[in-house]
Amino acid sequence: MPVRPTVLTGDRPTGPLHLGHYVGSLRNRVALQRDHRQFILVADAQALTDNAHDPAKVSRNVLEVAADYLAVGIDPAASTICVQSALPALAELTLLYLNFVSVARLERNPTIKDEIKARQFGRDIPAGFLCYPVAQAADITAFKATIVPVGDDQLPLIEQTNEIVRRINRQARRDILPDARGLLSRISRLPGIDGRAKMSKSQGNAITLSASDADIIAAVQAMYTDPDHLRVADPGRVEGNVVFTYLDAFDDDSATVADLKARYRRGGLGDVELKRRLARVLCDVIGPIRQRRADIARDPDTIRDILHAGTMAARGVTATTLAEVRQALGLFELTKPDKCPAPE
Ligand code: ATP
Ligand code: MG
Repeated sequence: MPVRPTVLTGDRPTGPLHLGHYVGSLRNRVALQRDHRQFILVADAQALTDNAHDPAKVSRNVLEVAADYLAVGIDPAASTICVQSALPALAELTLLYLNFVSVARLERNPTIKDEIKARQFGRDIPAGFLCYPVAQAADITAFKATIVPVGDDQLPLIEQTNEIVRRINRQARRDILPDARGLLSRISRLPGIDGRAKMSKSQGNAITLSASDADIIAAVQAMYTDPDHLRVADPGRVEGNVVFTYLDAFDDDSATVADLKARYRRGGLGDVELKRRLARVLCDVIGPIRQRRADIARDPDTIRDILHAGTMAARGVTATTLAEVRQALGLFELTKPDKCPAPE
């Protein structure tokens, strides 16, 4: 059987997953799981880097995020779902990799720069936050993943990972770690309902995958359109109009969407009619996911069992990589190989 390429992704358990996750990454993961070896990390240790004041929130959301995975069609028989903080090899790899990256390089990372600004850290950036790209390099390389299906905010982090990979390989004088590449979807960055560049759990501008029809309708009604489109008869702008961005992402009937765009540009299509269509489309996307999620959430013990089994499987894989990296870097071995106790 040919070797299946390894895929790794993760999500921070900082709140329920949303439509941005769905189009940016989750749909790709569901498609990849059949013919790839896929690991999915609930990144609770990374979530602590900007939520140390509220660890209970992070802990509570682990099961929630796992329920979202199962609801969108991640199959635990095909994908390994695991909990980051329960994989000690990831923390050890992070500690080793921190010596292969400079603080200046971390500060130049455009994603980190944006996130520091959005979180208003000022000069009080938690050290763990500044260094989370190094922890992410540990996550990706511990599984020897070569494919990372993500939104485009993650590309600078994958570049950072590959820099660390090259440094470790140079130090080891052989290619022990593979390069990883980001796999973008057609919609690689879904804007927030407020028109800001990215829908994000932390920015309060998301439609979650568990939203009710009433939540969806309210979110669509609040959406930013074209501020100069005052009367139905006025010509309106399609570019930068979030309602059209969402229709492009979620409405399968592209011919009708093209027709709506033409009518909007010409004048004669009102925001109310446009938003009514979008609300219907989004209710159709989210409705079945919400239904499955409600069934899954009724049995938290099963979700816990899935996370336990996945994490145990991931412990073996990540510990093997850690042992290889330690050996390749020439770290002191406490037990001489010939003095190892015989296996029982
Ligand atoms: P937080 O605000 O806590 O950082 P988030 O909403 O940014 O949460 P993450 O857990 O950081 O979500 O992201 C998980 C994955 O989902 C990443 O691969 C990320 O690129 C992707 N993703 C998140 N938001 C979007 C979006 N709006 N469009 C496309 N992809 C997204
Ligand atoms: Mg994020």
